[in-house]
Amino acid sequence: MRLKDKVAVITGAGSGIGKAMALLFAAEGAKVVCADRSGQQDEVAASLGANAVAVHADVSSSKDVQNMIATAEKKFGRLDVLCNNAGFGGGLAPLHEQTEELYDNVHNVNMKGVFLGMKYGIISMLKTGGGSIVNTASAAGMVGWMGHSVYGAAKAGVLQLTKCAALDYAEKNIRCNCVCPGYTWTGLVPMSKTMPEPPPGATVPVIPMKRWGRAQDLANAALFLASDEASYVTGVAIPVDGGYTAGRAELIANASDLPKENR
Ligand code: NAD
Repeated sequence: MRLKDKVAVITGAGSGIGKAMALLFAAEGAKVVCADRSGQQDEVAASLGANAVAVHADVSSSKDVQNMIATAEKKFGRLDVLCNNAGFGGGLAPLHEQTEELYDNVHNVNMKGVFLGMKYGIISMLKTGGGSIVNTASAAGMVGWMGHSVYGAAKAGVLQLTKCAALDYAEKNIRCNCVCPGYTWTGLVPMSKTMPEPPPGATVPVIPMKRWGRAQDLANAALFLASDEASYVTGVAIPVDGGYTAGRAELIANASDLPKENR
């Protein structure tokens, strides 16, 4: 019960990583506000019973985000943990082919949505003496990904929102951290909409650990950051990516192929 009696708001809770966070946090004793714009948050909250409530929120809308935070306060009395997780991948194309419309959509949700969540979440946490914010950024915000300039820039923005806010509120007992998924088998992978687990033996060659990440891998890292076990951790971005951002796995593989005398 690592989140016993804590009140958590999770955005994008209707699917994938956010849903895994909602289920895990509730299992660890939290009261959970499941926020999403899809409608799927209703089913997730219903499966958790009296310790959860669903709220419709488009995180790019200031009004919706304020209502989402107010729901935590009204229903459960306070806000201790906020996971700004809602987001989507956006276009995959060279920069000159990306449209202004896509740029606005991707940044409004992936970055402005996190800004709004943090702004109104922090206002709430300041009233009760602190809390923990866990933002879902991306490995694509840590290193360049071909074709992902617009999305990558939004996620890099999430990293900086997190680090700067960590400093702003370090003395106010509000911790701000990120989890950074790599290739994770969730709604962002079209096939995974109908297949909750990666097919047996499915590998990802560019990932040093070769396997797909699972939503649960991200939820586990978020749980640590949300909990008091991380009470001295603020301003960090934890890659949960099977080693993707650690370096160039294929060079290491080549090195082990070399004859010993040439290594
Ligand atoms: P997902 O599509 O399964 O879940 C995302 C959820 O966010 C959906 O339920 C969707 O309805 C919701 N959402 C989208 N826009 C919203 C908005 N404006 N307001 C409220 N809710 C909104 O995808 P996921 O993989 O679980 O993604 C979760 C987070 O992880 C996202 O921020 C995504 O960018 C990030 N991420 C995922 C991967 C991956 O490989 N799956 C990799 C890097 C980063």
